[in-house]
Parts: sequence; C-alpha cells; structure tokens
Amino acid sequence: MVDLVVRSRRVFTPEGERAAAVAVTGGRIVAIHAYDAEVTAAEDVDLGADALLPGLVDTHVHVNEPGRTEWEGFATATRAAAAGGVTTIIDMPLNSLPPTVNAEALKIKQAAAAGQCHVDVGFWGGAIPGNAGDLPGLHADGVFGFKAFLADSGVPEFPPVDADQLAEAMDAVDALFVVHAEDPEHLRDAASSAAYTDFLASRPADAEHAAVATAIAVAREAGRRVHILHLSAASALPLIARARAEGVRVTAETCPHYLTLDAGQIPDGATEFKCCPPIRDSANADQLWAALADGLITCVVSDHSPCTPELKRQDTGDFAAAWGGIASVQLGLPVIWTAARERGHTLSDVVKWMSRRPADLAGLREKGRIAVGADADLVAFQPDGEFTVDAHALHHRNPVTPYAGRVVTGVVGTTWLRGSRVTGDAPRGRFLRREIATGTKEI
Ligand SMILES: [Zn+2]
Repeated sequence: MVDLVVRSRRVFTPEGERAAAVAVTGGRIVAIHAYDAEVTAAEDVDLGADALLPGLVDTHVHVNEPGRTEWEGFATATRAAAAGGVTTIIDMPLNSLPPTVNAEALKIKQAAAAGQCHVDVGFWGGAIPGNAGDLPGLHADGVFGFKAFLADSGVPEFPPVDADQLAEAMDAVDALFVVHAEDPEHLRDAASSAAYTDFLASRPADAEHAAVATAIAVAREAGRRVHILHLSAASALPLIARARAEGVRVTAETCPHYLTLDAGQIPDGATEFKCCPPIRDSANADQLWAALADGLITCVVSDHSPCTPELKRQDTGDFAAAWGGIASVQLGLPVIWTAARERGHTLSDVVKWMSRRPADLAGLREKGRIAVGADADLVAFQPDGEFTVDAHALHHRNPVTPYAGRVVTGVVGTTWLRGSRVTGDAPRGRFLRREIATGTKEI
C-alpha cells in the first residue's frame, strides 16, 4: 500500500519519456511501474495523455521579504511558483532587508518565511565588500553559495565587488559563487527616456563580455566554481566555452525573457520589459538557444524580480527611473515550452533545462527528477493546452509582467510537493540546506 500513485502516458524521467505509474510514499518516489500496473494506493490519479513532469527548480528568485514585502513576499512568490509548476526555489540574498550577508540575516529571513512557503525554499548568501569573514559561517548554515555583483545592484545595502574583493571572498570559503556579470566600466547612466533603445544602449554587450572575463579569471586563479547568472549577451559565450575547455569550473544560465523577447518589439514606455542585463535582439536570442541546445548554457531560470507598479514607473514609462527586474516565476514553463516547441526542442529538453540541471547546479540530488528515491515533486502538465496571460490572474503580488496578453502553450494542472497537492491552503514548504560538499557535484 502506497500513499499515492500518479499514472501518465508521458512521464518524464532522466532517461526520457515513457508511460508509467509513479508510486509515492512518505513524500518520496518509491517505485516507477508500468502505466497500468496494479498498485494498491490511498489515492490513484490517472492523467492519461497529460504529461507528468518533475517539479521545476528555480534557482534564481528574488522574494524580497522581509523589508520589501510589498514588492513580493514568500506567500505570494511560492504560491505563484507552485501554480507555474515550480516546486523548489532558491531565494536571492538581496532586495530583502537585511540582505542575506551573514548568519544573523539568514535567521531573520527564515523567521520571516516560516509557515508561509507553498514550495521548498533554499537560500543564496551574498558576498559584498568587507563580509568575507562572514561567509564560512553562512555557508555552514546551509546557503547554496554566494551571489556577487560586479556592477551596481540597484539597492544600496548590497554594493558590488571588484575583482580583488571577489577573489577575497573566494579565498574565504570553498563555495559556489554566482555572479551578476556586467562591468561598470562599460555601463552608462541612461538618460530619462520612454524609448527602450536608449536604455539598451546604456548597457551594451561589452559590459557582460568584460565582466564574464573577470569572473572567469578570478575563479581560475582561486580554483573556485563560478556560475554566470542571467546571461543575456551571446557574445560572451565563446569566453565561457574556452574557459570550460581549459578546465575552469564555469557554468551559465539564461532566462525566459532573453530567449523569447525581442528588443526591437518593446513598445515605448513598456517598463515591464526592463531588466539588467537587458533584453537584446532576436539574433542574440537565436545564439542563446543554440548554446542551450549544445549544453554551453546549462539551465533556464526565472530571475523573478518584481516590484510595485509605482517603482516600475508604469505612470511615466521612463526606462531610466524604473526598477530593473522581470516578474515571471509563474510563467517560465509555458513561455519556454511555447518557444522551445516552435524551435524543434522536446519537452524532455525543457525538463532538463528547468528541473534537473538547476537542481544539479545547487547540488539538490533529490529534486528535479522523477526517479526512485527522489522527492515526489510532481507536476501535471497539458503540453497542448493554451491560455492568454492575464497579469491580474497570476499569484504574483503585483500584476506587472511583460508576458501580459501573450497566448502561451502549456497548462500546469495539479502540483504535488513531496507527494501532497499544493492547494494554496496550509503551506507545507520546507527550508532546504546545501546537501553536499562543494565541488562533489558538477554539471
Ligand atoms: Zn536576479
């Protein structure tokens, strides 16, 4: 007798797609049987032709609580995540107050999040000038690694590091470092303007190229593992390829907006499209897709970074003054599946990019895969269903998203977190700790 069995003609396992019955007890997958196997279960769900995916793992989410909860909080962010098929998030260390730059701040954040999380939640720590001494303790408390900015972060309490300060942080702790790679030398202050092209020109691809080179050089010297966050500029890809070939432990992610939105199509004043680094042109996006296909970019994560409509300057449409950040944690799966399918990729590819690989990045061996022994984080998904994005219908705290009005393919149905349906009542999410020693799991 098991707690739950979920049957589907299309179950996505690490080995590929098959008809199967996934048996769950105590929140874990205990067996994967033939689709029509006789299994005695307290609950037996048959999805038929609908797909069963492993819950997505989104390693790049800005929740902003405590301190800026009006931008987004744990209750809303994790409810939105679950509705979008995401069952694990890792929260970024900044935009909340205090930022997660020492062990005390992590405790404050966890106290704020406690009892509110509808999915499992892990935490990144932050590396800022002067806190190298705090990093080992924070790492020992279970953060998955450390985020550093090489350019202004947008908030004063989380200043950027230069190459020497990044090296100092890397020397202080054997951890994974995740880097916002834009070089301030190549950035200009954008003049007040409602034209997206003016904002784009202030953050050229050269800025990413230079900062990726810096991050790689420092990681190479320190012998540390470095991950390039939200890569937008495809021109930096050859640097990453070369460094990997030379044995530097460097990986990169990109985001749905860089893959599916086109700078040339952004209307005047549409500040919901503003993020840093910026969305570039469609030829650039084509190169990002090629890098995903060949494995140079390992994963796709949201960089969900919302704020209030007022801070997005929805009234004036001024790109220079608007907060830079895109809200999409609930929409990443259908947005990427819609575009991936048009480009000839499979749903297995999407699962690899958005579930298994991000789990591997964070060393979460029990997440992001439908396999015996893994957590029963499961998502029912209609690959051919369609819907029109209604920003007000999303669970995000603020109804601001560049995908509003888009017709997308792929509808998330039931989401199970460790074998229990996520309903929006009774949050059951847990805090996740880094499970394994740094460097023992590579992707
Ligand atoms: Zn971010």
